[in-house]
Amino acid sequence: MSTCAPSPFDHQKADIILRSSDGVDFRVFKLFLTLASPFFEIMFELPNRRFCYPSTLAEDPSLESLTDIQAILGAARKYSLDLIERKVCQALANPKVLEVEPLRCFAIARNARLKHETITAARYTLQQPLIPAWFAEIELITASDLLALLTYHKKCGIAVEPLLANLDWVMSHYGSSGGCNWLFLPQIPGSKSNCQCGRSTEAKFKLWAPAPVLWWATYMNETFELLRDIPSGDVARSEAEKTIQKVRSAGCTTCSSQVKANMEEFSNLLALNVEKATASIELEMDF
Ligand SMILES: [Zn+2]
Repeated sequence: MSTCAPSPFDHQKADIILRSSDGVDFRVFKLFLTLASPFFEIMFELPNRRFCYPSTLAEDPSLESLTDIQAILGAARKYSLDLIERKVCQALANPKVLEVEPLRCFAIARNARLKHETITAARYTLQQPLIPAWFAEIELITASDLLALLTYHKKCGIAVEPLLANLDWVMSHYGSSGGCNWLFLPQIPGSKSNCQCGRSTEAKFKLWAPAPVLWWATYMNETFELLRDIPSGDVARSEAEKTIQKVRSAGCTTCSSQVKANMEEFSNLLALNVEKATASIELEMDF
């Protein structure tokens, strides 16, 4: 039993019917197939011989399902459908897909030898821990491919470390302790602050003379611990959200009133520097 595909694949004047493997009939015109694919052009020239329809006639199906992407890519290559291949590449570079399934995108792109898409997906895998959980498409890549990805990820984690050891980027952003009062409240002469939060005495956090609030030092230590495994700017932002909650529930009225705006600015600054530090790391892979 077969069923008919919806418009525009149900045209009564169609001159050929393509039946899919799951029994759906597509009533189409040879001319369009010929224009879209050299494969069909050759096939129709032989004595006896969907997607490729002009896109103004048929809306492009959503390619957000990765299983579809892989199957479509295979078919597009088999039938020389360049336009479709380009659309699949666009889908593989879709941030919505990449955010959720970077490893699957990486494997599919690598398997298809799509350089740009492979590199982009590798960057998105930085939002996940170094050692990935199992995923179906892992079978599409070789052990060498996976090793290259893990090495890249590890190098990015190492590239972030100097940001904690050397806080010049913080000093140059704020200029002076006055530029980030929220870190040093009670020590600023003339300040009316009554902040009772603890202070950090760690040498690495000695930005200017005064010792910064302890909750910020804790944020820094915990965030950089995570960044080693997940070297992505998102970590800086999500940890800042947790710090904002913690500071507010700790009850210091001075810090509570300004922690949100200041930590949002600070975590964006850190995120930017994390992205900068990892941007120069290359995925070492031949295409
Ligand atoms: Zn405080």
